[in-house]
Amino acid sequence: MPAVDECHAPRCVVCGEPLPAGSRSNTCSPECRQERRRQSWRAYYCRRQEADPEHNRRRHARRRERLLADPQLLADHRARERERERARMRDPQYRQRARAHARTRYARDAQRVQARRREIAAILPPQEADRRREQSRAHGRRYRRKWRRRLWADAGAHRAYKRQMAEYRRRAALRNLVGVVAPILAERRDKLEE
Ligand SMILES: [Zn+2]
Repeated sequence: MPAVDECHAPRCVVCGEPLPAGSRSNTCSPECRQERRRQSWRAYYCRRQEADPEHNRRRHARRRERLLADPQLLADHRARERERERARMRDPQYRQRARAHARTRYARDAQRVQARRREIAAILPPQEADRRREQSRAHGRRYRRKWRRRLWADAGAHRAYKRQMAEYRRRAALRNLVGVVAPILAERRDKLEE
């Protein structure tokens, strides 16, 4: 009776599909095997964390010490991390989350972040400081170029922007005029009062 056979056939522990006859694995496919590994790693991780909440902190501190003691290791590590981050940033959702996070953090800690930047800039060798300044300017130029292109592509936004700028210039001119006229009026008043 094939139906009964199928009922008792061993099944994949992840998705529950019957396993191919004679299979010695408890999963049906590379995807399920990967998922199974993930699950058991997660379970192990949780058990370990529960048994020793400080485990990760200690491990991280040890790793950091090792890296800081070895410039080559540190450079390799940083290059690897940059590459990983670049790969993650290709995912639009990740990019959006990362940017939102950076904005919130900056809004919260702007003063601290700026103070820290000044501190770092002060101790950098002049060449490195120049390199970073140029890098940051290049970043600004790229950002503004992108921003202009987006604005040009959106006729409504472009009109709104032009209106806003016209208003801004009008107010600046008015302020300027007040700056020129006010001292003249004040002088006249003083003369009249004399
Ligand atoms: Zn499966």
